[in-house]
Amino acid sequence: MSIDSPLTITGAGPAGSLMAVLLGKKNIPVRVIERRPDPRKHQESAGRSINLALADRGIHALKQAGVFESVAPLMVPMPGRCIHDLNGQTQFIPYGQHNDEVIYSISRNELNNVLLTHAEQLPSVQIQFSTSCNDINFEKKELLLEDEILRRQIKLPFSFLIAADGANSPIRKSLTARLQSETSINILPHGYKELTLPASATGQYQLDPHALHIWPRGGFMLIALPNIDGSFTVTLFLPFENSITAQDSFNGLKNKEHIKHFFHKHFPDAAALMPNLADEFMTHPTGKMSTIHTSTWTDQRIVLIGDAAHAIVPFHGQGMNCAFEDCIELDQLMQQHDLMSAFTQFEQLRRPNSQAIATMALENYIEMRDTVRHSKFQLQKALSFKLENLHPKQFIPRYSMVMFHHEISYATAFHRGQIQQSILNELTQDAETLDQINLDRATALIHSKLPPLS
Ligand SMILES: Cc1cc2nc3c(=O)[nH]c(=O)nc-3n(C[C@H](O)[C@H](O)[C@H](O)COP(=O)(O)OP(=O)(O)OC[C@H]3O[C@@H](n4cnc5c(N)ncnc54)[C@H](O)[C@@H]3O)c2cc1C
Repeated sequence: MSIDSPLTITGAGPAGSLMAVLLGKKNIPVRVIERRPDPRKHQESAGRSINLALADRGIHALKQAGVFESVAPLMVPMPGRCIHDLNGQTQFIPYGQHNDEVIYSISRNELNNVLLTHAEQLPSVQIQFSTSCNDINFEKKELLLEDEILRRQIKLPFSFLIAADGANSPIRKSLTARLQSETSINILPHGYKELTLPASATGQYQLDPHALHIWPRGGFMLIALPNIDGSFTVTLFLPFENSITAQDSFNGLKNKEHIKHFFHKHFPDAAALMPNLADEFMTHPTGKMSTIHTSTWTDQRIVLIGDAAHAIVPFHGQGMNCAFEDCIELDQLMQQHDLMSAFTQFEQLRRPNSQAIATMALENYIEMRDTVRHSKFQLQKALSFKLENLHPKQFIPRYSMVMFHHEISYATAFHRGQIQQSILNELTQDAETLDQINLDRATALIHSKLPPLS
C-alpha cells in the first residue's frame, strides 16, 4: 500500500492509538486527531478510572504491534472469579484449566498512555490533542475540526480516514447521514458507577488480588478488579429504575443514607472496606451502556473501527479486546490491498464477529449477575472442562474460546457455543454431580455435532 498524503485517524483511545502504532511502524504518514487534552499531562476526572480485563485477543494484538513488553508490567493476573455471597462466604471459580488461561486487569488510562507514547515516538505519526473532529464535508473531502482550547474552526483536507472516535462517534453520524444507512443504539436499562476499594493502611490488597470479584445479586451486581497499587476499582451495575424495589435502582438511591443502607444490605463485606463509598457514589457519574449496530462501516475512503463501529456492553470484557483485533485485521488488509478494498473487506470480515461478541456480551450479564450462583451452572462449567480434556480439538468451553483463543473467531465461538450448550443441557438434565454424567453419550454427541477445529 502506498499513500501520498497522511492518513487521518480520529480518536486516540485504545483503537486509534494502536492503529497509529501499527501504521507508523510501517512508515505510513499518520495524523491523529484527539478531542481530549494529552491524558499523560492531564488527570482523568474522578469516577472515570476504568480498569479493564485484557485477554488473549488484546494481548495478541499488542504483541503483533511490538508494544506488549511495555504493557506487561501494568497487568494484574486474574485466573478466576471470586464469588461473594450475602454472608461474606467466597468461592473461587477458575476461568480456564490451563496455566496460561488467565485474564488480566489493567488501567485503561495507563494502557492508553503507553500506546500514545509508542505512537508518538514514530517519526511518521503526528498526534493533535484538544482538537475534535465533528463533521465531514464529503464534496470537498474536508474534515471540520474544532480547536478545543482556542475554540477555532479548522478545515482539514483528508484522503483516507480511520474513525476510532468511540461509541458516540460523530464520524459515524456523518457517514450514516451521507449514505442514508442506519444505526441502532440499544441502551441497556442498567447503568454503572465506579467506586474505590482502597489498599490497606500498609498498602496491601484487602481482597485476593488474583481474581475478578463478583457479588451477584440476581437483578444487579457489584464487581471489583485489582489495580497495581493495592486498590480495587469497584463497579456497581444496577437498573436505573426498579418498579418493585425502588431502592434497588440508581434512581432510588437519592442520598447517603439510601446508599449506605443499600450497600450494607446487599454487599456488606465490600462496604466494610470502602470508607468513601457514599461520597464517591454521590460525586461519581453514572454511566450508560449500549449495543450499537450500524449498517455501513465504510464508504471506501472512511472506515469505522472499535466502539465507533460496534460498541458493546462490557460484560464479556471484550470491547477493547475486539477493538484491538479490528486494528490487527485492518492493518493486515491494508498491507495486502489498496485502501478502498481493504476498508470494504474489513467490514465484511469483522461484521459477523462484532455481531457475535455483542450477543455474547449481553448474555454474559445474566451469567455474571445471576446464573454463576446456581449449582447447575457450576456443574456445567466443571463438565465443560472435563469434555475439553477428553476432546480438546472439538470441545472448548465458550468462555475459553472467547477469552483464551484469539485464533478462533468470535463468530465461530458463538456458533459452536450454541451447539455445546445444547450438549451440556442434555447431559446435565438429570444429573447433579459429575459422576452422574454419561460420558459415552457425551462422546457420541460431540462426534456427531462438533467437527474438529482446524
Ligand atoms: C464500564 C466499562 C467496562 C469495560 N470493561 C472492559 C473490559 O473489561 N475489557 C474490554 O476489552 N473492554 C471493556 N470495556 C470497553 C472498552 O472500554 C471499549 O470497548 C474501548 O475503550 C473502545 O476503544 P475505542 O478506541 O474504540 O473507543 P474509546 O475508548 O471510546 O476512544 C475513543 C477516543 O476518541 C476520542 N473522540 C471522541 N470524539 C471525538 C471527536 N469528535 N474528535 C476527536 N476525538 C474524539 C475520545 O476522546 C477517545 O479518546 C468497558 C467499557 C465500560 C464502559
